[in-house]
Amino acid sequence: MSTKLMSGKKGFVFGVANDHSLAWSIAQELHNHGAQLAFNHLPNPKMERRVRQLAEPIGSKVIVPCDVQDDEQVRSAFHQARETLGELDFVVHSIAYANRDALYNPFYRTSRADFLQAMDISAYSLVSLCQHGLAHMAEGASVLTLTYMGSVKMVPGYNVMGVCKAALESSMRYLSAELGREKKIRVNALSAGPVRTLSSAGIDGFAKILEHYPTKAPLARNVTHEEVGRSGLYLLSDLSTGVSGEVHYVDAGYNIIGW
Ligand code: NAD
Repeated sequence: MSTKLMSGKKGFVFGVANDHSLAWSIAQELHNHGAQLAFNHLPNPKMERRVRQLAEPIGSKVIVPCDVQDDEQVRSAFHQARETLGELDFVVHSIAYANRDALYNPFYRTSRADFLQAMDISAYSLVSLCQHGLAHMAEGASVLTLTYMGSVKMVPGYNVMGVCKAALESSMRYLSAELGREKKIRVNALSAGPVRTLSSAGIDGFAKILEHYPTKAPLARNVTHEEVGRSGLYLLSDLSTGVSGEVHYVDAGYNIIGW
């Protein structure tokens, strides 16, 4: 009997920027377990090149431009994936952005424009992917988003992104209830502990967060890219068919500590 969890499954992974991206950690697990994958890239030649370098060697036939601020690009990305792969069994949303000012200045000084942009790209985009992806997803498909504990606790330097993650997690619950009734689609969030990536490099004091976790976490260490990837695989595979609307922490247990 095959031990491959994703044989015959097809899905769209949004949010690979380079080989440190958490989306790439998840994509590698999905690929190793037999899934066929579509990828997006930000619509510029540099990002296209970077994503192609990773996606083509694993046989991806769909590598398309998609800035999630543009609904037309989201619609078109799903259409292209559907044409080549057929109905999708899963969608990974691993996207976040906030202007540098909004991350480095005190939260109370966040401008309206920076707040709305961060919310649009980091939270509303999940709604947009579900809205435009629904018709292209199979019954029982699984949608996964990436979040961080700064949604429910004040983490110094996380600022507007914490507020975006709170909106993202709440959106995930509403989507889970609606898409579950509509098409038995599961929607979950994976809350990763701190991991070095392009985005995390933009968080003021990220190095301190990385140093702090092992001092408090039950496992006395940080998590790895591979651990985030494997937990993503679990939430996207049939191992988790009874799980929806959940925020699943992969943080060496840090979130349970109260002192
Ligand atoms: P990353 O920089 O590799 O990924 C972020 C992705 O968002 C990039 O691929 C980028 O191109 C994409 N993106 C930004 N603006 C976009 C737009 N307008 N349209 C389409 N795509 C856009 O960094 P990452 O750490 O892998 O981040 C992935 C997710 O994981 C984010 O939601 C992040 O908040 C979350 N997360 C990261 C950590 C961590 O410590 N790295 C911890 C918990 C959660």
